[in-house]
Amino acid sequence: MSAREPSFRQSVELMFNRAAALMDLPPGLEEKIRVCNSTYVVRFGVRLRGEIRTFTGYRSVHSEHMEPVKGGIRYAANVNQDEVEALAALMTFKCALVEAPFGGSKGGLCIDPRQYEDHELEQITRRFAYELIKRDLINPSQNVPAPDMGTGEKEMAIIADQYARMNTTDINARACVTGKPPHAGGIKGRVEATGRGVQYALQEFFRHPDDIAKAGLSGSLDGKSVIVQGLGNVGYHAALFLSREDGAKITHIIERDGALHNADGLDIALVRDWIAHHGGVRGCPHGHYIEQGGVVLEEECDILVPAALEGVIHAENAERVKAKLIIEAANGPITATADEILRRRGTVIIPDLYANAGGVTVSYFEWVKNLSHIRFGRMQRRQEEARHLLIVNELERLSKDKELGWTLSPDFKERYLRGADELELVRSGLDDTMREAYQSMREVWHTRQDVPDLRTAAFLVSIGRVAASYRAKGL
Ligand code: GLU
Repeated sequence: MSAREPSFRQSVELMFNRAAALMDLPPGLEEKIRVCNSTYVVRFGVRLRGEIRTFTGYRSVHSEHMEPVKGGIRYAANVNQDEVEALAALMTFKCALVEAPFGGSKGGLCIDPRQYEDHELEQITRRFAYELIKRDLINPSQNVPAPDMGTGEKEMAIIADQYARMNTTDINARACVTGKPPHAGGIKGRVEATGRGVQYALQEFFRHPDDIAKAGLSGSLDGKSVIVQGLGNVGYHAALFLSREDGAKITHIIERDGALHNADGLDIALVRDWIAHHGGVRGCPHGHYIEQGGVVLEEECDILVPAALEGVIHAENAERVKAKLIIEAANGPITATADEILRRRGTVIIPDLYANAGGVTVSYFEWVKNLSHIRFGRMQRRQEEARHLLIVNELERLSKDKELGWTLSPDFKERYLRGADELELVRSGLDDTMREAYQSMREVWHTRQDVPDLRTAAFLVSIGRVAASYRAKGL
């Protein structure tokens, strides 16, 4: 990255400052909300392959205006304090925007997980979890981690188990971490949640003709050309749902080793399968291979979905990005400098703190499920079905008795009679959350002349809510 570029943390602060400058906060409170409360750095040793290896891990707490604080744990070789603090700050504002009742936190471990076997990763994860648990940096009422880049259900199950071993009488132990597999206290729909949230965010955007016009687009998602960077958990699910359910055409996928192109739209499941077996997109027969993946970000398209790393759109390439609409599925994919350039050029950006909030939203549902010790829908589902059956039977009786000649289509009957299961309830809660949060941002974007973009609007809403919560405590 060039010298013109601020660090990731500075970038988030610059974005925060843009919004804070438009608010009437007492300077002390503004400063309090901006700063990261604490960062714990731990170095621990694990005996592996006949030697002791030392690992460095972080857990940052950005804001404790609400507790527990919430945010994922990332495994990547280049994790550092600046990055973890930036991500923790984004969590504070993300949670506020989607009204998940948490403060912001984030963790990271400097490790390339691909270099280790499963049993080694378990040992390392257990030891990292132990270090955090004994300092209450993992705790159902204080700090609740979740998956992030390089981690998933497996690591979360290990963390939950480690917590339970160290807190044998805590009845809420399972709520110490979210993103667990369903058989270990997880919730249906958590794995797809962030990608699903990206889809719901775009669906909501396309419900507003004024917003579509601001991006220089028209019509619906159907037929829109989309470039997706990163086919990890978030990018994969977003691309899959957008192509299968909304008729969008994924023309390019950018991965670590290059990009794939197919003007008619790539088959996401086939490409994902190829990557799983071959480690990259090179040689994949479902599209045309492009070695220089990075430049594909600059290709012509309607919607660009950066779903990989932070800082991929920066001072050097922002001027050449042609997408009309960018939705930040990753955290911080656009630097503050690039953000300025794109704003000047009129590109509409759906910002990360909103766009990828689906993950933490469903984490919230999982945490509530763990604390209530009951699966969503367990009490209501059959009762709901019985009441629907009453109506259907009554309609059919009326039709017969009065010889009205009505018949209910079998498809309608089947769909109407089925009570909602956990997955449907999770999706419905997520959809509602994404719609509501969009509308709160949009209202600011449209009503305030001094708010030119959705990111500033999102920060304004979030900072306002965090400030209100501090004020309520008398600060
Ligand atoms: N790591 C995800 C994020 O960046 C999810 C966090 C969570 O579920 O707590 O939003």
